[in-house]
Amino acid sequence: MNKSQLQQHDREHLLHPFTDFNDLGNQGTRVITSAEGAYITDIDGHQMLDGMSGLWCCNLGYSRREISEAIYEQLNKLPFYNSFFQCTTVPSIELADMLADVTPAGMNNVFFTGSGSEANDTNLRIIRRYWDLKEQPEKRIVISRKNGYHGSTIGGASLGGMSGMHKQFQALDYIEHIQQPYWFGEGGDMSPEEFGVHAARCLDEKIQELGPDKVAAFIAEPIQGAGGVIIPPETYWPEIKKILDQYDILLVMDEVIFGFGRTGEWFGADYYGMQPDLMTFAKAVTNGYFPLGGTMVSDRVADVIKAKGGEFTHGYTYSAHPAACMAGIATINILRDEKIIENVRDNTGPYLAKRWAELAEHPIVGEARSLGLVGALELVKDKGSRARFDDKCTAGAVCRDMSIKNGLVMRATGDTMIIAPPLIMTTEQIDELVEKAHRALDDTARAMA
Ligand SMILES: *Cc1c(COP(=O)(O)O)cnc(C)c1O
Repeated sequence: MNKSQLQQHDREHLLHPFTDFNDLGNQGTRVITSAEGAYITDIDGHQMLDGMSGLWCCNLGYSRREISEAIYEQLNKLPFYNSFFQCTTVPSIELADMLADVTPAGMNNVFFTGSGSEANDTNLRIIRRYWDLKEQPEKRIVISRKNGYHGSTIGGASLGGMSGMHKQFQALDYIEHIQQPYWFGEGGDMSPEEFGVHAARCLDEKIQELGPDKVAAFIAEPIQGAGGVIIPPETYWPEIKKILDQYDILLVMDEVIFGFGRTGEWFGADYYGMQPDLMTFAKAVTNGYFPLGGTMVSDRVADVIKAKGGEFTHGYTYSAHPAACMAGIATINILRDEKIIENVRDNTGPYLAKRWAELAEHPIVGEARSLGLVGALELVKDKGSRARFDDKCTAGAVCRDMSIKNGLVMRATGDTMIIAPPLIMTTEQIDELVEKAHRALDDTARAMA
């Protein structure tokens, strides 16, 4: 099939996730046909620097044969066996070992799933099981945050705080949402430091309102990814830690984006010095080569679930799929052997910070923020008042298209442009990324004038 035939059949037969069907009908899909290193190529032969690592997952880029060969060899040896009913496979044990090793101290158990959404559903099941076994069944409510993203199953989407999603399904009734730590958008006249404390105190207020004996857990991404790369003010996590230490409430950190090196540390929890009770992972654990997710379970929780015995009536057919586990093992080996994460911490992260900050000088950029290898640009019509161009987020959509035209994949979340480039990116490629982003901003300014 040629390009227009592919687009035609795509329109007729494929229901795309998170896609506006009018846009899809009008413009057709972009057909991506190949990739190499940090670049992807579409069916027209247009090559783009992938500023989004696929969908936050291909942190090592697209050319790692060690991973694809590990999958292939496993598929030829033992393509599938389950881990239900006292069975297991060698790769699942080896990956569990490695995960216990690279995750924060005190996290030594893993429950495997096929995705991040499933892992957050698993978290809900584990949280309930834990409090039931602790004979505190009245602890049922999970507190989350507005504009957080925790996946797209009913459980994941209920935990998430995206209003556009909540309009289209009925959320679980035991999940409550508090304010996000989004200083640029919601900080008003407060300094970032003041606002960080303010946003964290919302957790304390909510716990007081609900009653500490009713609250089971608090879930949050270390940095909101899909919500627009919202990096909390430095005061936020220390204040959250203080609050959680006061009450007997579990902390779930959703590390699906920030796990495996994006901040320059292995996990966001390491970066912020937090000790979560549960930690969701997916995406980059296999470098996007094979679906795999899971939740790391702290000794505090695992000891209760294991010691009290009884069956945990939960699991997925593909929990601990052997080929997925081999992909995870190969990925972690590369991260370790090639000191990829140290390089982000010491070299490319600081370099991106320096180059990305230059974009704040651009007339339509209200803020340029970054941390490790993520970044965001707030598009504004007026820098002083932070006023947007319109309330339909036209500037973000235009900038995304201009960026692609200029050979860079940037994503738009409203009028916030975001990047999460592969961790293997060189300083030369960071220069290329910033230059292309600059051109996209110039083109956007012209188009919006
Ligand atoms: C992507 C994402 C999820 C969902 O993962 P899926 O594999 O798409 O189900 C959950 N949490 C966060 C923070 C994510 O970014």
